[in-house]
Amino acid sequence: MDNEYRFLPSVDKLISEERIKQLQENYPHTLLVELVRQHLQQERLSIAAGNPCPSTDELVESICSQVSTLTNLSLRPVINATGVILHTNLGRAPLSKEAITAMDAVAKGYCNLELDLNSGRRGSRHTHVEQLLCQLTGAEAALVVNNNASAVLLALTALTKRKEVIVSRGQAVEIGGGFRIPDVMRQSGAKLIEVGTTNCTYITDYEAAINPRTAALMRVHSSNFRLMGFTHFVTLDDLARLGNQHNLPVFDDLGSGCLLDTSRFGLEPEPMIQQSISLGAGLVFSSGDKLLGGPQAGIIVGKKPLVDRLKRHPLARAVRIDKVRLAGLIATLIHYLKGEAVTKVPVWRMISAPLEEIDQRARLWAQSLGGLARVVEGETMIGGGSLPGGTLPTKLVAIGGEDKKKQPTIAQAISQRLHHQEIPVIGRISGNVLLLDPRSVPPEEDEIMLKALGDTTALEQS
Ligand SMILES: *Cc1c(COP(=O)(O)O)cnc(C)c1O
Repeated sequence: MDNEYRFLPSVDKLISEERIKQLQENYPHTLLVELVRQHLQQERLSIAAGNPCPSTDELVESICSQVSTLTNLSLRPVINATGVILHTNLGRAPLSKEAITAMDAVAKGYCNLELDLNSGRRGSRHTHVEQLLCQLTGAEAALVVNNNASAVLLALTALTKRKEVIVSRGQAVEIGGGFRIPDVMRQSGAKLIEVGTTNCTYITDYEAAINPRTAALMRVHSSNFRLMGFTHFVTLDDLARLGNQHNLPVFDDLGSGCLLDTSRFGLEPEPMIQQSISLGAGLVFSSGDKLLGGPQAGIIVGKKPLVDRLKRHPLARAVRIDKVRLAGLIATLIHYLKGEAVTKVPVWRMISAPLEEIDQRARLWAQSLGGLARVVEGETMIGGGSLPGGTLPTKLVAIGGEDKKKQPTIAQAISQRLHHQEIPVIGRISGNVLLLDPRSVPPEEDEIMLKALGDTTALEQS
């Protein structure tokens, strides 16, 4: 066993290997020496565990492949053909051209993020977006932070720490990705008082729980599931009235910050931010990158005295938004103000795309797959914690699954190949069929899509 160690090459020997020498053209010598040392150390441990010594070629190969893994951009664009418009794993909302231009402009250089150009004095980053949000929602004041989770955490910490917040038991939910109302509440130092039962909560339940330690009433939009059958929840209207009587603010965690009426598009109605404000919510929280269709952000709108307290709280600094996303959010909000959101914001373009147009694109996609694919009826999901159970009719390109004996894995094989395209294409597999939905792919990406499908088929048929 001891002998095995003697076969390990020295650091110098490895560094002078031709392929490693070539790497020195692009990478510092010190980095390569460090990587070689780390690899040799790993091999010593592996030999100690009873494994044989690798050949020098194998070592060189493994060092080269580590260098390429380290320097490949691991985070890169993909085509979302899953048919889930707001796919959290795929980065949620794609942005409008105008939003991207605005982000590019401030990313490149300096901007007046916290400079008031009129007075020449220090300004606040919030002023750039506050008026827009107030105009769009009818709120008195607004504040934008890192994301919706931090918006809720900030509000609970700043306004309800060491006090009680009353929430319906059916709304003490988990949104996904680790965001659970009871946990956020604990983190903020507020005490969660759950009232009612999982399926039914009445206004009298809230009323009975109010006491001198109560700091707020909170509603959480059950954005990723739906209760069916015998249910009852209190309307925001009634909650606001009760809050008023007891001088308690109502917090409304909407999740998806919808500004447009989803029923216009044949979807179920999703609560809108402006509705919550007009019904009297004290603070309304929503995400920038769900149905709003902008970059990741936490949008807080509501009554001025409450928003002002959030702005002054030290946690606001820890969860503040950066200049690039702020610029993208502002550009996105301007689309709503101009009444052009449906044609400019990609999420709404996808939702409003006519079925005939989707059908035409699906046929084009299917053609480039040759005889492998057919077009079938299907449904697009909104996703991203919006409209649970709300879907739109679509046309899907379906691959495989026709002959269960002959092609049990064709869907898997094509899916794998699509994942390994230069721009990976992500579909969804249902049973042994691979489904590709044109609705969640911006039409501008069709060219890339057709090339990827063509290349994949060429491989399949060769
Ligand atoms: C999505 C969601 C959140 C979390 O929002 P992020 O922007 O992802 O932090 C919080 N509450 C509700 C109701 C949600 O739907």
